[in-house]
Amino acid sequence: MEEKVRTRFAPSPTGFMHIGNLRTCLYAYLFAKQHGGDFVLRIEDTDRERYVEGAIDVIYRTLKTAGIEHDEGPDKDKGYGPYVQSERKSIYLEYAKKLIDLGGAYYCFCTKERLASLGGDNEAGVHKYDKHCLSLSKEEVQEKLAAGVPYVIRQNIPTEGVSEYDDMVFGHISVPNADMEDNILIKSDGMPTYNFANVVDDHLMKINYVIRGIEYLSSTPKYNLMYDAFGWERPHYMHLSPIMKDAQRKLSKRYGDANFEDFLAKGYLPEAIVNYIALLGWSPKNNDEKLSMQELIDQFSVDGLSKSPSIFDEAKMRWLNGRYIKELTPAQFVEKARAFLDASAVNGKYDYEKIAKLLIPRVETFGEIAEKVEPLAEFKEYNPTMFEHKKMKITMPLALSSLLACREVLPSVEDWTDETLKARLNDLAAELGVKTGQVFLPLRLAITGAATTPGGATEMAELFGKEETLKRLDFSISLLQKALAL
Ligand code: GLU
Repeated sequence: MEEKVRTRFAPSPTGFMHIGNLRTCLYAYLFAKQHGGDFVLRIEDTDRERYVEGAIDVIYRTLKTAGIEHDEGPDKDKGYGPYVQSERKSIYLEYAKKLIDLGGAYYCFCTKERLASLGGDNEAGVHKYDKHCLSLSKEEVQEKLAAGVPYVIRQNIPTEGVSEYDDMVFGHISVPNADMEDNILIKSDGMPTYNFANVVDDHLMKINYVIRGIEYLSSTPKYNLMYDAFGWERPHYMHLSPIMKDAQRKLSKRYGDANFEDFLAKGYLPEAIVNYIALLGWSPKNNDEKLSMQELIDQFSVDGLSKSPSIFDEAKMRWLNGRYIKELTPAQFVEKARAFLDASAVNGKYDYEKIAKLLIPRVETFGEIAEKVEPLAEFKEYNPTMFEHKKMKITMPLALSSLLACREVLPSVEDWTDETLKARLNDLAAELGVKTGQVFLPLRLAITGAATTPGGATEMAELFGKEETLKRLDFSISLLQKALAL
């Protein structure tokens, strides 16, 4: 029988959720769900220097908002816990000792000074450890331990041969053992490094598909050597190509362009962000662009994963977000965009659902709301020359006559809606023998006082209501009359 698929997302609590991390998380989730498997959340907090207070809440909040539900994690222990690495310290030490007994690791008591004396002989300018402590006898090691000499535990990597594996995305990977260093597995403070903790945890948590960023592609042979030394079955690996800001730069926090919550604050819908990032490095067979979480689960495939970096294109994400917004009902729009509406000039004014009806076809993100509704803030005196419109052949006298005609017919309109008003004003233009624009444009300006508005004349009229519309119309008629000195 095939083993149940188990994947994991293993973020480090560094304070924010990078779009690249979220994509890794999403793919691990999609792959598990597609195979009826489990998706595990594990917190990798062994690097205390990078730890940021409250960062774990950001992780929970992000997953929840993104619609990614973990089956197991610190808050849902299904028997593989603890799921937070700092709570597993004794487990790592126990396994590190086992690995020492198996010959896959050794105690190292070298001082900083000795390490520094080894000089820089690799690319990073860091010394390659010379396996000095590997030659210590059991007794020497015991003595030093008993005397309390500080130590680390290092991986014992063979000096010859090649380590190989097949990555599900990048294919066959092979690294000469001589190129790998005897990395530290347990630090002098007793904490494991990522190198060790990820192996122990993935094994103990029965993770059989490891899905993560490409930065681990070439260190995976080291991890495999540990699986082999322990006699554990290696997991399958799926490494993911990076997300770039442009051809040169990786997307990063530094440029403030990579944080999930920042995009929410800019007025993107979480489902649109998730949809967009799913397509960064993966393409569905049918080239669909708008995919729900269920469709992503159904269609996700390893063949669709790209080996080359993908470029994060915010304009494309904005366009996709606009498609999601267009499918919202006014009530849904208000529910999702309430904070943006409250923070805008229409706060407390007008019926939000009516505003929503105007905005749905006109915005791609909620972040555009404020600017769009700005003209609705207050109705105040404006320059009547704004009525002049060359292309529509509108002069101030023509505008005035259109407005006076509107003033005649509008009071008798009972059903004060965009549709009815539009029909009535179309008839009016015909009766007057003028172009419809020569009625609608002056009316829009007359009742808003603004050159650009988030809707046409009759939409604006419906929003303001009959009484307010007529009041503003009267104001504008007298403004024009004064300007024309009538
Ligand atoms: N904690 C690691 C990171 O945030 C996880 C790497 C992995 O998924 O194995 O990069």
